Amino acid sequence: MKKITTVCPYCGAGCKMKLVVDNGKILRAEAADGATNQGELCLKGYYGWDFLNDTKLLTPRLTQPLIRREKGGKFEAVSWDEAIRYTAQRLKAIKQQHGARAIMHTGSSRGTGNETNYVMQKFARAVIGNNNVDCCARVCHGPSVAGLQATLGNGAMSNSIGDIENSKCLLIIGYNCADSHPIVARRVLKAKEKGAQIVVCDPRRIETARIADQHLQINNGCNMALVNAFGHVLIEENLYDRDYVAKYTEGFDAYRRQVADYAPETVEQLTGVSARQIRQAMRTYASAPSATIMWGMGVTQFGQAVDVVKGLASLALLTGNLGRANVGVGPVRGQNNVQGACDMGVLPNEFPGYQSVTDPAVRAKFAAAWGIDAAGMDPDVGYRITEVPHLVHEGKVKAYYIMGEDPLQTEADLSLVRSAFDALEFIVVQDIFMTKTAERADVILPSTSWGEHGGVFSCADRGFQRFEKAIEPQYNVKRDWEIISLLATELGYPMHYEDNQQIWDEMRELCPLFYGATYEKMGELGHIQWPCTTLESPGTPYLYQGNQFTTPSGKGQLFATTWRAPAEVPDAAYPLVLCTVREVGHYSCRSMTGNCAALQTLADEPGFVQINPQDAAALGVGDQQLVWVASRRGKVISRANYNERINLGAVYMTYQWWIGACNELTQENLDPISKTPETKYCAVKLEAIDDQ
Ligand code: SF4
Repeated sequence: MKKITTVCPYCGAGCKMKLVVDNGKILRAEAADGATNQGELCLKGYYGWDFLNDTKLLTPRLTQPLIRREKGGKFEAVSWDEAIRYTAQRLKAIKQQHGARAIMHTGSSRGTGNETNYVMQKFARAVIGNNNVDCCARVCHGPSVAGLQATLGNGAMSNSIGDIENSKCLLIIGYNCADSHPIVARRVLKAKEKGAQIVVCDPRRIETARIADQHLQINNGCNMALVNAFGHVLIEENLYDRDYVAKYTEGFDAYRRQVADYAPETVEQLTGVSARQIRQAMRTYASAPSATIMWGMGVTQFGQAVDVVKGLASLALLTGNLGRANVGVGPVRGQNNVQGACDMGVLPNEFPGYQSVTDPAVRAKFAAAWGIDAAGMDPDVGYRITEVPHLVHEGKVKAYYIMGEDPLQTEADLSLVRSAFDALEFIVVQDIFMTKTAERADVILPSTSWGEHGGVFSCADRGFQRFEKAIEPQYNVKRDWEIISLLATELGYPMHYEDNQQIWDEMRELCPLFYGATYEKMGELGHIQWPCTTLESPGTPYLYQGNQFTTPSGKGQLFATTWRAPAEVPDAAYPLVLCTVREVGHYSCRSMTGNCAALQTLADEPGFVQINPQDAAALGVGDQQLVWVASRRGKVISRANYNERINLGAVYMTYQWWIGACNELTQENLDPISKTPETKYCAVKLEAIDDQ
């Protein structure tokens, strides 16, 4: 029996754990003393590993390469040589006929690791010749990255997960940490125990609201109005830090003019929050000796999300809550390595280390390192995954190479996504399970899973952590970066790596932000937060020390703008708001947690729709009764789940169910900057199903 130190593959909390292995099987997981979890795990950490023992509860593991030679035909098992040759031939033909930009790629924010994401973006840029590489950050915290880059200069969490418990005020908005990051929620509890004031802004009375000092039960879809009102109060009541604003920020006059129209008394009806509560929240936030703002997808999955993130960063700037310990802005990233996928340049606008693809000097540096002609590198920003359905229908994208993503489950407006997949000429899926997306592939390239390989993940607070291989893969599968390397070589670009560390070291040499984060420094339990620019540096627990912002002027940029309503509001035909949320026992598209017995037992299909009992009674819907939930885009079966914590006029569904997939109902309304969909808001109706 042996114990292997690894990192949980689910959320961005980055909990270190040990997998106990005997005779090639995982027996159990134990918590390890990691920087972010300090010997604790949530239920997904403790019970989210048994898919590695091939439990086959939800979907079969992908065990060998498969090719479907004709659309609608059957999969045929083939050798790796044939799968690689066939895939390369098809990609080459599409590139020759339609140009390099006709091919789209994804990296993966899940268990594959940073090294693989580095290799995937290199494949797109050096082998195919475009910047069409993106990841699921696009549908979650893309607005946090764009909003924070614009206001503060860096798109990541400014502080550390460990810092949260030492902050004296936590302003938590659109973030249900008890369900999405339970170990981060523990930090919130500890902060409360240490005397912090907790202010929660959320339409639901979520778990954190139960321990909060103030719960602002905001109406769905009006975050910008509330954040503007917060700014209004800070200025009108002279609660802001005048010296800090004068020294370290720009744009105050324009900001003040913009929030002048958002007196709390004028937005009471819109937000559903009393002026007294709004004012009290800002008195609490501004008077605390240290204050931290935390947010999740209740902020980012709206058509006006980037603006709201900029507004939240402005609250921190107005009160000087940046640039020191125990304060800051914390977009808590969702999947375990979504921060890492962005760090590694799985973004259409940035090379690894947040270096712009439009900068000729940056392109020249990467071209020289990769042995290609800089003139042949794509100088333009590539496509985003949320744009793909439209680009396919416009004839601009013909092939889609998807690694460790399941867009046919996780993207908004699934009928639109399906129609795009029908129109694609060639789909390659590289994954561990037969997901909804894999079912539509022309080629399936089966890869090793978390547990079957090692590497480095980035957790939500910019911390690089190593994870180790626990068991040998049982099937005819390969490491993700090995598959990509074979394809690159077949396409005429010889690519070979001996191991993860060789890839990591190549990446470090090209990324000043990460240069000092060596494998040796990370060790078994190390957590090295970037920027880590020298071999001597221990990393950076909080950003903007000395209030030096990484914006072009070096100053924080204050920002407010007019609130915009969501794209589709309730009406007589579709009278309820649908908001997508999390289920604590499952993660993402559920391909991994759905194959774990203990987690599957907690929650199974069909999914549920949370509804206030008053709304349910008015509709004649009983608790646990089957219902149809319909929007203008589709209709799914679900199970009504009475919940008095739900606000009237809204219902809530989680997106991982195959039966009752709520993304059949959701709509796009992409944020104009980040292209993130508005999956937190669309109009639906409910109908009881008579089960007699
Ligand atoms: Fe930690 Fe998140 Fe894993 Fe739970 S799911 S153990 S909070 S990393």
